[in-house]
Amino acid sequence: MKPRHFQRLYPHAQPAEGPAHWLLFHGNDVLAPEGAPPALLPGSAQAPEAAAPASTLLLGALDGQPVLAGVLPDDAAPPAGMRALNLRAALGMADAEFASLAGYAAQLVHWQRISRFCPSCATPMTANDGWGKKCPACGYAGYPPVSPATIVLIHDGDRVLLTTKDGWGRRYGLVAGFVEPGESFEECVVREVREEVGVEVADIHYIASQPWPFPHQVMVGFMARYAGGEIMIDTHELVGAAFFTRDALPELPPPFSIARQLIERWRHQQS
Ligand SMILES: [Zn+2]
Repeated sequence: MKPRHFQRLYPHAQPAEGPAHWLLFHGNDVLAPEGAPPALLPGSAQAPEAAAPASTLLLGALDGQPVLAGVLPDDAAPPAGMRALNLRAALGMADAEFASLAGYAAQLVHWQRISRFCPSCATPMTANDGWGKKCPACGYAGYPPVSPATIVLIHDGDRVLLTTKDGWGRRYGLVAGFVEPGESFEECVVREVREEVGVEVADIHYIASQPWPFPHQVMVGFMARYAGGEIMIDTHELVGAAFFTRDALPELPPPFSIARQLIERWRHQQS
């Protein structure tokens, strides 16, 4: 089936008449029907029955049909027949279209929550262009934050270097970290690899990127060749790191993550 086209809309727009798709949030949780994976909920410009959102955001249109996010009051229980799922769990169960829309919606809901007051002088902020806000007192302007972070698959022939963190159990992932001010993505890859696992990398190639709404990263994915050094982990960040061969990989990150997609890409290149 052809993927549906999502067109973004901004606060000056009004939802079209007729049926609409809804996403409902309660705090940081996404609401989903009991016993079913999370999905867009049917409604109109009015919220789905039994839900009384405290605020509503028009996100855009999916094949022309409005997509709205409703935020339930903090003290409201989920409507009958609905359950609250944390965003990470919801994205793990959902299809790609819902995961993308819910991730976008969650970031705008988060932005509404954190942008009420000027971070410079604490005056209540007012609407600016797009989703932006501005401070009427000091002129500060803010927009929904997006924090770039690099993630890198380090390969060495038939081996891949994977890392694990406290709380991950038997699961291993890739070296990743936030881009710092004044740093290129490639410089970030080299620094993060040195800091986290103590090795050198070369031949750094961009592969793909992925919005990562926990709470507002964009993961910029690379592959790089191992270029020497002994593994020495940063024990503040990691509890383990090791090379694994293609036929003996450990438990891996969930399929929707770019970490897993980079690992699968490498695995297929090798085979
Ligand atoms: Zn201000």
